[in-house]
Formats: sequence, structure tokens, C-alpha cells
Amino acid sequence: MADLLDLTIAELRRFLDKGEITATELTGLYLDRIGSVDGKVRAYVTVLEEGALEQAAKADKIIKQGDASPLTGIPMGIKDVICTEGVPTTCSSKMLKDFRPPFNATVMERLNGQGAIMLGKLNMDEFAMGSSTENSAFFATRNPWDLNRIPGGSSGGSAAAVSARMCVASLGSDTGGSIRQPASNCGVVGLKPTYGLVSRYGLVAFASSLDQIGPITRCVEDAAILLEAVAGHDNRDSTSLPRPVPMLRDSCREGLRGIRVGIPAEYFIDGVQEEVVSEIKNGLKVMQEMGAELVDISLPHTEYAIATYYIIATAEASSNLSRYDGVKYGFRAVNYSNLMEMYRETRAQGFGPEVKRRIMLGTYCLSAGYYDAFYKKASQVRTLIIEDFKKAFEECDIIASPVAPTTAFKIGEKVRDPLQMYLSDIFTIPVNLAGIPGMSMPCGFDRKGLPVGIQLMAGHLREGILFRAAYSLEKGLGLDRVWPLN
Ligand code: GLN
Repeated sequence: MADLLDLTIAELRRFLDKGEITATELTGLYLDRIGSVDGKVRAYVTVLEEGALEQAAKADKIIKQGDASPLTGIPMGIKDVICTEGVPTTCSSKMLKDFRPPFNATVMERLNGQGAIMLGKLNMDEFAMGSSTENSAFFATRNPWDLNRIPGGSSGGSAAAVSARMCVASLGSDTGGSIRQPASNCGVVGLKPTYGLVSRYGLVAFASSLDQIGPITRCVEDAAILLEAVAGHDNRDSTSLPRPVPMLRDSCREGLRGIRVGIPAEYFIDGVQEEVVSEIKNGLKVMQEMGAELVDISLPHTEYAIATYYIIATAEASSNLSRYDGVKYGFRAVNYSNLMEMYRETRAQGFGPEVKRRIMLGTYCLSAGYYDAFYKKASQVRTLIIEDFKKAFEECDIIASPVAPTTAFKIGEKVRDPLQMYLSDIFTIPVNLAGIPGMSMPCGFDRKGLPVGIQLMAGHLREGILFRAAYSLEKGLGLDRVWPLN
């Protein structure tokens, strides 16, 4: 049955609708797969065997009646930062270890509305802070292509589970690269949509001006299906854009001819792994052969992106995370003699070191006397980065670049050096700062056999052209659908 596990959402739809397999059988297959490989990969924080089978039985009824939606009966995994009613939503933190939200995130309502199946909740860096999933308070997730390496982060569980075929597709969240970088490391497709396209209601907040939910899938078309399912206006998120859901699957078929692909000089710099550069160049050549035009462009403020991000993201995080005080919900310290001590002990024991580092940095950046020098300055530089992209998109339709400077690194390699860890987001962060869509998709392999991803970016709300280019490139590259851990 291994090949059934390889099928994409669109392929499974046909199998399910023809009655060649039931949602219950498919769910059973995935639960078995989790049982046999998750001991090694450790992508899941919670597996919902009973709940998944109940949902599958319901999906089978809907399919029998001929009322199936694109995701009816499709087994999925959800990053543990997205609120799921009655189901633990831990953010891989001791702080929320026993937290069961009393409501569903909007994206969950939409998936449930389509009859998708939730197999479980996926591991991540604590509160989505990190690039390797090593900051999970519970355990590190491993890269299915090489179990001694990181899957990337912070949505490491989401990318590893899709790549190891422990779910057909998953949802992640991306504040500075957390969907795209793990997708690249695990050889799958990951999309951070335009800011405001997907509702953040029920997404546990990290940095509210940057956070977006997005799909992680085995192919570009699946990402389109999943994005179409979860996107669209929601009046419970004030940043949600009042726009109709884009028809992305149609865009996929439009071909590359005439598309201008920008190559930013600032993204092909010293320190980027040689094979990453050569695989991306090959991807560019393939696009050119398919009728795209390559143009050299410049994003001159790129070098300030990381510094800008680590001021804005930590400032917003320090404010968002003030809610974990031992009173409202989540963990509370056991021993204390007064209210202040209760707060202090709760936060000292409940948060891990990276989260504390970010709260301290962010609080400092926002404090009286420093606000102008840090937060205000960073906001001004952010505007310059937005302008860079606007200018660039006058000369091109999409921009292509590496996703990360290297392929997956070894577990433990960067944990003691936060700055090195932060640098792995150098090419993904500008996209969040500008609020534009960015996709990571497989482009090749390095000499060790580790996946290399290419990042495609487009202007605000131009997901259509992004999917058009990505779908064609995927076909043009014709990478064999080989998956790890067979
Ligand atoms: N790795 C980046 C960070 O640590 C981005 C995280 C994210 O996108 N959630 O902040």
C-alpha cells in the first residue's frame, strides 16, 4: 500500500470519489504509517486516532452522497500553534502543555466544513520561535531525509510529516520563514500567503504584523487546493482582507510564457552553499526554456532585513506573550508567596530559553528612551524594504531566490549560537516584512542527497502568478517523486 501514501490531494480525490478507497481505510493507513515511522521522526505532539476515525466515518457518508468538497476525507496534520477545539494546542511549550482551546481557529472551521480529517497536532519550535524545531519544549523533530539533521523550523513537524508521508498535507505558520524554510529542508512545497489572505483568528500570536498561516504539501497543485480552502475574509480577524478567494488551480495551468523572473543580486552572495546556488540556477534555466524571461534586479535593503525583523518580531512577541501570566490559562507555578512571585515563577518555569531571550529583547526595544532608536527605526527600514519590492516588481512578475543559505544542518549544530540560527532566515524574512506571498518548492538535491528548495515571491495578492510559475517549474523540473523513509 506504500503507493497510496504517495498520492496527492487531487489524486486521492479521484480514488475516494470512485469508491476505490474509503476515507476510513485511508485514515487507517496513515495512522499505521504514523505508528511505524513517527518513533524515528517525532513530528507529532498529539495523535488523534479516535477523533480521526470518527471524522473519516462522517467523510465517507458525505462522499457516498456525492457531496464531497476538495478536502473531504483527506488526512491532514496541523501545527500545534493553531487552536483546535477540545484538542491540546501546546505551541510546543510547557506554558500551554495542558491547554485545550474552547474554540476552533477559522482555518479549522473551514477544514472541518470541507470534511477534512485531522490526524493530530505537529511539533514546532516553542511559540514558533526558531529555525530547527530544536526549541520545542518536548523533543526535537528529525529530518526524514537524514535523521541526524533538523527538519527546519518553526513548522518542522508540519514539513517532516508531509515528507515522511504521515499526513497528506499540513498547515504551518510563517512569521519569518517558518513554513518555507522547513519545506525546503524536507523537500516539500510551502507557501506563506499575502498578509491578510488567511484569517489568523485562532492562531496563537507570535508577531502579529508578520504571522500568516499557510499550506505545506507534496506538490504545487495541493498547495493551491489547500489555500483555496482556508483563504478568504473573516470578520473575526481585523487584518483579514475583504477579498474573494482566488481561483488558484486555474492559474496553475496558464504556463510560464512571458513571465518575467527577477533575480536579486543580494540573494546570491558569499556563504550560500555552492550546490544551493547551482540547483537554483538550474531551476532558472528551466524556467527560461519554458518561455520565461530572466531579469537582474536589486533589493538594496536586504542586508538590514534580519536586524529589522529581530526588533519588530521580538517587540510584538514581548507584548503578545504577556498574556501568559498563570492567571488566564495555561501553566501556573506551584510554589509562590504573593502575586508578583506567582507571575515571575510561572514565566520563569513555563518559558524556554529562546522565548525568554525574545521577550527580553523585545521589552528592551520598546522601553522608554529606546523605542525611537530601535522599534521606530526598524519600522522605517521596513518601509524601505517594502519599497525595494515595489520597485523590483515594476521590472518583473515574480522573484526567484534560494530559500535558505544551506540545506538541512545537523541537530545540535547551531543551538548554542542564536545568531547563526537567526541567519538561516536571511532570504525568507524580507517577504514577511513586505507582507507579500512567498513559496518554497523542491528544486533539486545536494551531494548528500538533501533537498534544495527554490523560493518564488510575487507582489501583494499576486498568488495567481506565483502558482502559475511554480506549477510550470514543477513540471519542467520533473523531479522524481521519491520520498524518504520508504
Ligand atoms: N526562524 C524565525 C524566528 O525564529 C522565523 C520563525 C517563524 O517564521 N515563526 O523567528
